[in-house]
Amino acid sequence: MEPTVFEAQRQPSSSNRLEQWRRAWIFVLSHLAVLGAFWSGVTWQAVVLCFALLFVRLWGVTAGYHRYFSHRTYKTSRAFQFFLAVLAQSSSQKGVLWWAAHHRVHHKRSDQPGDVHSPIQNSFAYAHVGWIFDDTEDTRWDKIRDFAKYPELRWLNKYWAVPPAALATACFLIAGWPGLFIGFFGSTVLLWHNTFLINSLTHVWGSKRFDAKDESRNNMLTALLTLGEGWHNNHHYYQSSCRQGFYWWEVDVTYYTLKMLSWVGVVWDIREVPERVLEEGRRRDRALSTTGTIRPAVRARN
Ligand SMILES: [Zn+2]
Ligand SMILES: [Zn+2]
Repeated sequence: MEPTVFEAQRQPSSSNRLEQWRRAWIFVLSHLAVLGAFWSGVTWQAVVLCFALLFVRLWGVTAGYHRYFSHRTYKTSRAFQFFLAVLAQSSSQKGVLWWAAHHRVHHKRSDQPGDVHSPIQNSFAYAHVGWIFDDTEDTRWDKIRDFAKYPELRWLNKYWAVPPAALATACFLIAGWPGLFIGFFGSTVLLWHNTFLINSLTHVWGSKRFDAKDESRNNMLTALLTLGEGWHNNHHYYQSSCRQGFYWWEVDVTYYTLKMLSWVGVVWDIREVPERVLEEGRRRDRALSTTGTIRPAVRARN
């Protein structure tokens, strides 16, 4: 492992500029690859593959990258931890250690200078996709020491493209060119933008139940599109909880599935929302419905 010192404001060198262009082209070509379906045609197998891979890998992103590796909201075995990392990385969102460290920086600097995901500090387009082409390539080892001790995760992080490349090959072998263009690239592009919406849209559109000291919002639409990640204001206020839809009406499919996995012993020690936070949320909902305004609350200590 080579610890890398990250400098948030450093000026990109010419080699970094070349790297940025390379990443930009890969990103653009991945979008254009979907258009290959005009040449190959679309088959029902490819469409089924597209939606299955979209939701299975979305689960890998939210249950793996986010709720496990970034926030440690539940525990599991080393074998299932590895499975989660492979599944998450099949989404082609880089290495698991990079993703989790990068996300921890987002929470630390949320909507403050240095938060590349903030549509408050940057334009909406930059917060959504522009940051990818910027100088965010290095893994912040100082932020992910807890998982960096596992050699298999360091290997996966280094060779992050192996799972998506294997999946793309499998899609081609299963369903031919339509399987590659629609099944793999179509679902990958949809998955990218689904994930990016949480960083961009849920910091500008939705309701603010809690005073999370940033612009994070709760948004039912993105919560449904992302298996529960749209309850972003809840999450920014109390990050330690596995559950992000705090109340029964806040649909959180990822939490429900993790709960089911806990019943069969695959995961355990799921961290729940404390009653004091739930009561605070109810109080603020009541205040909002009666007066239309809410008083600032003390920030939760996670
Ligand atoms: Zn988070
Ligand atoms: Zn956020």
